[in-house]
Amino acid sequence: MKKLIIFTDLDGTLLDAHTYSFKGAISAIKLLRERDIPLIISSSKTRPEIELYRRKLKNTHPFISENGGGIFIPKGYFKLRVKGKLKIKEEGGYLIIILGTPYPDLRKTIKRLQSEGFKIKGFGDMTIGEVASLTGLKPLEARLAKERDFDEPFVFIGDTNKLMALKTRVKAMGLNITQGEFFHLMGNTNKGRAVDILKDLYMRQFGEVMTIGVGDSLNDVEMLRRVDYPVIVKRHDGGYDKRIRVRNLIKADGIGPEGWGRAIMEMADRLTKWKL
Ligand SMILES: [Mg+2]
Repeated sequence: MKKLIIFTDLDGTLLDAHTYSFKGAISAIKLLRERDIPLIISSSKTRPEIELYRRKLKNTHPFISENGGGIFIPKGYFKLRVKGKLKIKEEGGYLIIILGTPYPDLRKTIKRLQSEGFKIKGFGDMTIGEVASLTGLKPLEARLAKERDFDEPFVFIGDTNKLMALKTRVKAMGLNITQGEFFHLMGNTNKGRAVDILKDLYMRQFGEVMTIGVGDSLNDVEMLRRVDYPVIVKRHDGGYDKRIRVRNLIKADGIGPEGWGRAIMEMADRLTKWKL
């Protein structure tokens, strides 16, 4: 039997985009724990923010931070050594695979873009209070959201043409922009590359694997393209993000965690049933 692995986005997917609650997904999360199905958080959030939710979710699996900037693997999680041409460091009980561009470099780019006239404001330009009111996070969580390593979320003022110009300029500087709840400036990383690396590690540990990925926004596309069962949930307006074009896309019936809970409950049950 192939080992089932699930990759999930947080904001707007497992967590409600406004309240950050995962209430609608609780039964499904319990099912995953009972059946020993790894749930890998893959978010634009920072390491300390994800750690907070891992504790709330009683999750002990590896996770992907800041849109694929870093992979955090609890020490001893995989029996085999993590190897390859990857930048790896050991810190705080993790093996950390570093894929992203260092945050200070991203901040320099933000400053440069501002001086070139682009109306952008990054989390690094905001106080904790400003991040809290922008995101709806509590001040403690907003503080954690500012502890960034590989990705700078920002707000942008301007029309479509100005946005195109910004994207072209960023590309010319060797960096990338993606979109979740906010715009994000980052290096040449995305959730997909991190998913590939983890998939490979799981395959070495378990043999064959089958994968589900769940998301809601553009920054999930590369993750969704690399899984066997790509799932999107509805956004708060009741529709799906139309910009997500992925083969065999499964549309979960429900907004954020409600859709997550329904889809995962049904799929995890069906895909692991004969094991019981
Ligand atoms: Mg999202």
